[in-house]
Amino acid sequence: MSASAVSPNSGFPGFGDTAPLDIAEFSSATTEALIQRIADGSFDAWADTAARVGYCANPVRLVGSSTTVDAATGQVLDTFSSDQSPLGVVYRPCGNRRADVCPSCSRVYARDTFEMLRAGLVGGKTVSTGVASNPVLFATFTAPSFGSVHGPRPVGGSTAGGRCRPRDMSETCRHGRPTSCMAIHEPHDPHGGAPLCDECYDWEGAVVWNWWAPELWRRTVMALRRAIAAKLDVPEESLGESASLQYAKVAEFQTRGLVHFHALFRLDGPSGPGSPSPLDEAELAETFRRVINGVEYFAPAIDAEDTSRLIQWGTQIDIRPVRGAKGVDYQTDSLHAEQVAGYLAKYATKDVAELDHGQLRGPHLRQLEQTCKELATRGMAAGEDSPYLLLFKRNRTLGFRGHFSTKSRRYSITLGALRRARHRFQLLRADLERRGKPLDPTGLEERLLADEESSTLIVGAWAFQGSGWTRSGDRALALAAAARSREYAQWRAEQTRDAITQRKDRR
Ligand SMILES: [Zn+2]
Ligand SMILES: [Zn+2]
Ligand SMILES: [Zn+2]
Repeated sequence: MSASAVSPNSGFPGFGDTAPLDIAEFSSATTEALIQRIADGSFDAWADTAARVGYCANPVRLVGSSTTVDAATGQVLDTFSSDQSPLGVVYRPCGNRRADVCPSCSRVYARDTFEMLRAGLVGGKTVSTGVASNPVLFATFTAPSFGSVHGPRPVGGSTAGGRCRPRDMSETCRHGRPTSCMAIHEPHDPHGGAPLCDECYDWEGAVVWNWWAPELWRRTVMALRRAIAAKLDVPEESLGESASLQYAKVAEFQTRGLVHFHALFRLDGPSGPGSPSPLDEAELAETFRRVINGVEYFAPAIDAEDTSRLIQWGTQIDIRPVRGAKGVDYQTDSLHAEQVAGYLAKYATKDVAELDHGQLRGPHLRQLEQTCKELATRGMAAGEDSPYLLLFKRNRTLGFRGHFSTKSRRYSITLGALRRARHRFQLLRADLERRGKPLDPTGLEERLLADEESSTLIVGAWAFQGSGWTRSGDRALALAAAARSREYAQWRAEQTRDAITQRKDRR
């Protein structure tokens, strides 16, 4: 059987005009919505709309109209009004980053983040491919300990069969609680991250650390730039004439409710991304290791009863070199560019809600939330200028007020530029479809990513009608369709992989 004679879609269950609709795994709400849409004849309009918003779980609904004008001549090229849309209203994807809020938009966000991170490592998407030759380090910054907690042992670091805290069973803390735990905690065990003794644990210290973590990060980047300048023997303020340190970082919550950061650092030469770095990877790593543990910040006391706290990174700072797509060296502890980009992109779609078990938040996380509120109240009593007042608003994120993913200006292309390119592609495709013309792939990526202003102007008046699907079952239906399209994408990837392997085998 020749693979090319068969449609690439044959074999995927439920695909094709004659294939039976597989609704066995649909919930009753989804089936109900489907039947309703088919019965009143609005299914095709809905399916078309849902596909256009990428099966977003909570799309934004807009009403209004717009006119496309040639910027040079003022000639009206096109007009569009929301009543021309299949459902009479324009739907736009919600664009939420979080996987627990919208799986579809979060996947788009993860893909963009992956492309952005990858371009910073190997080039492409307007970033010079020269970046692949510059040193890149991947570092993980954790919080220090605020007391012993339960948890699965780190993979590979176990010497006791994965037991939580194996030690003398008779030993207790001053509250009479054991300081050991012989259990083996699975990764999703709700006890994971909970203190062995609630009274020994420094709840306030943990919250204050989360609160100041962004400041500690800011100081770390400053300290690294200062240390690189010292290493190059140039004044700090003219470091830009010799080198430039760029980074991309992602925040992640550990099960104990403390935030930690994964970051990629790249050292470029004076002419920006891709210009040769004055330091090699080993020199850069050595400079980092020397500096990071010394970075500190004295967090002000909450009130007169409290004392100042020293904010520092935990002792486990992992720094590893990252290799570009070519010349991967699996013999050393270096990481592969694609691997790191994929890893970070995955974390960029999560937040503290990932730690919740369904709707349930573990008792230690609730205690941290409570501590945020208490410290805010004490801060308020201490004075209006207390830096802890807004902790009250940050109780859900356990005191963390930073962004979940950030990058320095010249690390890579921006997520905004990638979003703009996707929007331009959709407009282009719609326009070609209307005119019955094929897509010309030559230089397409450059055209889409170009920074220039478009020659046409879109003037519109739009009003927000609401958010979410209008019928209760539509959301479930969109989620089911999204899951199905993910399965299909996975199936396609597997088919391609198999085809490549077969071709190799035949050789
Ligand atoms: Zn969405
Ligand atoms: Zn334990
Ligand atoms: Zn205790």
